[in-house]
Amino acid sequence: MNRSPAPLYFFRRFLFLASKNRIVKRHRIRYLLWECTNRCNLDCPGNTVYCRKEKHRLDMPAAHFLEALDTIPKRYRRRLRVIIAGGEPLLRTDLPEIGSEISKRGISWGMVTNGTLYSQIIQDKLSAVGLGYLYVRIDGMEATHDRARNNIPNFRYASQCISLALAGDRISVTVLTLVTGLNIHQMEPLYRWLSDLGVKSWRIFTADNLDGLSFRKLLDFIASKRRTAGKIPDIQFGCEGYLGPYEGKVRKAPFFCWSGVNIGAIYNDGGITGCLNMDKRTVQGNIYESGFYEVWQNKFILFRNRDWLKVSRCQNCEDFRYCLGNGLHYRRDTRTEVKVCHLSRLLESEK
Ligand code: SF4
Ligand code: SF4
Repeated sequence: MNRSPAPLYFFRRFLFLASKNRIVKRHRIRYLLWECTNRCNLDCPGNTVYCRKEKHRLDMPAAHFLEALDTIPKRYRRRLRVIIAGGEPLLRTDLPEIGSEISKRGISWGMVTNGTLYSQIIQDKLSAVGLGYLYVRIDGMEATHDRARNNIPNFRYASQCISLALAGDRISVTVLTLVTGLNIHQMEPLYRWLSDLGVKSWRIFTADNLDGLSFRKLLDFIASKRRTAGKIPDIQFGCEGYLGPYEGKVRKAPFFCWSGVNIGAIYNDGGITGCLNMDKRTVQGNIYESGFYEVWQNKFILFRNRDWLKVSRCQNCEDFRYCLGNGLHYRRDTRTEVKVCHLSRLLESEK
């Protein structure tokens, strides 16, 4: 394994480490993730990146979310982005009204969708009220992607959705891919297919059980595509974990889990946490009991003082300074050890 990250990375890491404490202390909210529904029209096994499906509950009324949003001081609105996730957000018929209300407040917004219900009409309606960012999952070539959804045909809808949004030229499209043992061998064809579609931004995540060799293969793939600056200039490994020797090669910025530092999240039941991928036991409050911003300001210690993450294998880890105990979504609660250590996964694959 080539162990030297790009030289510019060391400079970026130095700057980041020098300013990290100040950034954490200020904790300016930049992203607010909202789980607007738990309903979904697909049937993926388990909950995945930016998509948590639970037993059906009523959707949070738009007014309750907007009330929570309004607790954020106006001076932070200009740089704030609301990302609407689910379930499947397009199952809500009031999305245009919600988008309009968010835009009226001078806040940009985007949405995670499986694309099934997306159409030119929907796009026109949502664009007119400020839809600026679209995140669409593609988990492999057609048969593999659909198999991951219990064979419900979704691939062609997701691709149509991506094509429509790219043709519209007003929406920034990011494709999200969860890499598993089933699609790891499809990265090259998927790259070609996405680039032919005109995709410029691709975020790649991994399943917890991806083996070390496949993981390394994936990181080499991303690093080589970034090096050659091909047709998808913004291909990056997701934020999920610290990558040791691959830091600086597969992502632009040094690893840091921004959960609760510049990302806040509201679950459909009103629970407030740092990121929708977090374990629900990390909820810090509820919009039905306190103002969102009050909780953001006065709770959230869990996310901002990360000394508690120095347990078990992280305790004597030489890379703790850079990793800080990996993505927070790998902790069930404050007592348990990290569920996945990407660095160990890499090192073990070298044996
Ligand atoms: S042992 Fe912990 S701190 Fe060290 S690299 Fe792994 S997750 Fe990060
Ligand atoms: S918890 Fe942190 S690492 Fe995990 S998805 Fe959220 S921001 Fe990324």
